Amino acid sequence: QAGELGQQTGHAVYVVGGFVRDLLLKHPNFDVDLVVEGDGVAYAAELARIYGGRYKSHPKFKTAVVILPDGQRVDVATARLEYYEYPAALPTVELSSIKMDLYRRDFTVNALALHLSPERFGDLVDFFGAQRDIKDRVLRVLHSLSFVEDPTRIVRAIRFSERFGFRIGGQTDRLIKNAVRHSFFHKLSGSRVMHELRLIFEEKTPLSCLRRMQDYKLLAAIHPLLALTPSKEAVLLEVENVINWYRLLYIEPQPQVWMLYFLGLCTGLDPEQFAIIARRLNFSKRQAAEMVALRQQIRDTAQGIFNWEYHKGPPSELYFLLEPMPLEGALYLMARNPREPLQKYVSLHLTTLRHKRVEVTGNDLKALGVEAGPRYADILRRVVGAAIDGLAVCRAEQLE
Ligand code: ATP
Repeated sequence: QAGELGQQTGHAVYVVGGFVRDLLLKHPNFDVDLVVEGDGVAYAAELARIYGGRYKSHPKFKTAVVILPDGQRVDVATARLEYYEYPAALPTVELSSIKMDLYRRDFTVNALALHLSPERFGDLVDFFGAQRDIKDRVLRVLHSLSFVEDPTRIVRAIRFSERFGFRIGGQTDRLIKNAVRHSFFHKLSGSRVMHELRLIFEEKTPLSCLRRMQDYKLLAAIHPLLALTPSKEAVLLEVENVINWYRLLYIEPQPQVWMLYFLGLCTGLDPEQFAIIARRLNFSKRQAAEMVALRQQIRDTAQGIFNWEYHKGPPSELYFLLEPMPLEGALYLMARNPREPLQKYVSLHLTTLRHKRVEVTGNDLKALGVEAGPRYADILRRVVGAAIDGLAVCRAEQLE
């Protein structure tokens, strides 16, 4: 129907990019990107109208996002027939607009399109040998200036290569090394680098991606303080273990895993060094302050738990130490202390203590004649503490 709609307005419509790649790879992918050879924004408006969805356009880029009633998101772009501006003089070739659109993409395997127009529905458009590359399991850029144009593609190459088990083609590998040697990354804005790092952290195997980045000296190219050291690797390996452990508990909400990997990559940095990294990656003042505070809270809480263990405090004290900590902080604490009883204490908190609920409310206290005020919080806290102390025995030796 999306294609028929294009036909009514006289424009060819294609589904492009990752969706088509994943279709050939038989990987599930629900991100639909459409390209219209015509007015993409008008097309999106019509698509939204017909399906009863919403749409939001970016007229400057001639793109739009349609949200269908079931929540499905469809990105719509316009294929334009402008000449592509190259940083250096390459022969300009007259290209059809879809070919031009695909030529702007990062890798051959992402430069595929599928016709949606009724008369050619399902025809694959492959100008750059993507099907062959998918068969050979290789990632190749479309031209030799690809990384000059956009160095973030280097990180994308590693991400896709790890995700699909594709090798990076010989020429593409040389271009990456050349780009790193010529410090292309220095020019790149912190927000774009951070965006790509976050995508890496959200992959299934972030650590192997980071190792590949290290092999290409890419982390140090972003900033020397980000280089992967053996001690960072050890922490990141534990981060991976802890995340996998937590996933298997199926407790909602799940943590923001990127934050744990980011903390791991910043292991060993003092606050000033951390501030340098936060600036390099364009963190807002607030974001940076939150991260600094979280790192401090993790350190203080670890100290608190060691003290608690030393003076054999009650379980409720453990609960109150960990309760203010964001989930990401608690999990990172586990990853940082893999062979300590501390890890067991934090896991006890996450799996049991923090789910303890008490039935007493402020209204009950009112009914008992307790005067409203700050005492309420104190009393309720003591009720929670008493409930927890009645609930759990949690010295390390008893957890074995
Ligand atoms: P994922 O499965 O991670 O979402 P994807 O291939 O769908 O992968 P997106 O980042 O959603 O990737 O981008 C959609 C498409 O846009 C890609 O398939 C690629 O063709 C193109 N693209 C994205 N980023 C770039 C880039 N930096 N340079 C060139 N083309 C890009």
